[in-house]
Amino acid sequence: MKPKAKIPLVIACVICLVVGILAGYLPGYYSDIQNQGDILTQVSTIDAILGGLYDGVITYGDLKDYGDFGIGTFEGLDGEMVALDGNFYQIKADGVAYPVTDTMTTPFACVIFFDADREIPVGEGMNYTQFQDYLSDAIQEKNIFHAVKIEGTFGYVKTRSVPGQEKPYPPLVEVTANQPTFEFNDIEGTIVGFYCPDYVEGLNVPGYHLHFITADRKAGGHVLEFIIKDAKLSVDYTSELHIILPDTEEFNRLDLTKSRKEELEEAEK
Ligand SMILES: [Zn+2]
Repeated sequence: MKPKAKIPLVIACVICLVVGILAGYLPGYYSDIQNQGDILTQVSTIDAILGGLYDGVITYGDLKDYGDFGIGTFEGLDGEMVALDGNFYQIKADGVAYPVTDTMTTPFACVIFFDADREIPVGEGMNYTQFQDYLSDAIQEKNIFHAVKIEGTFGYVKTRSVPGQEKPYPPLVEVTANQPTFEFNDIEGTIVGFYCPDYVEGLNVPGYHLHFITADRKAGGHVLEFIIKDAKLSVDYTSELHIILPDTEEFNRLDLTKSRKEELEEAEK
């Protein structure tokens, strides 16, 4: 009896192993799971970036399994990333948007499979500050995360990007002190980004963090200011956050105990 009972067990183990391996190696299958989950995936922490940890954590090829929409940066802090409709762009320090290849890596990014839960009307003439005040009144879900997409025509958009850095990497505030900025007037495009609750301090950017890409996908950057002309705002809520931390000596050596709130405010503006 004993040898007979062992055979089905061995077969079951082999089947489990094969299914497990296939699930891990089939990106399509995996991204379907992520898609249904509506999970915000974040790479590293904002304080690690403020501390100058600009080494890539995962490839863009792998990041695509976690979202088709989002923002971030590149190895060495080489520009601003915008992901929209599954297309990933790198806006370099010249303000120009370049396509992102799967082998490029990111030290910090936030992505989601964007699936709008709500559309909220936004008026002509609304600027970034007014937009934040308006949404804090319009949105009840202040303690969960949401992705925002503002698509249309803007009377004005001001963005910045950052030049790629060499090791030893300087802290983010030193890099952004000399950031190139770009201004767009009467421009068609999309603002892509996220709202994070205040309690994420240290982990991500509390409040809004937005990037912009023009409709012709040729330019953009990290949003500093905008004025809406005729645009549609869609919001995708999520109560699930997934974090991919760097598994490196540098990350574990970094002092993440002190508050970098003021540094962040300086670096984001
Ligand atoms: Zn940014």
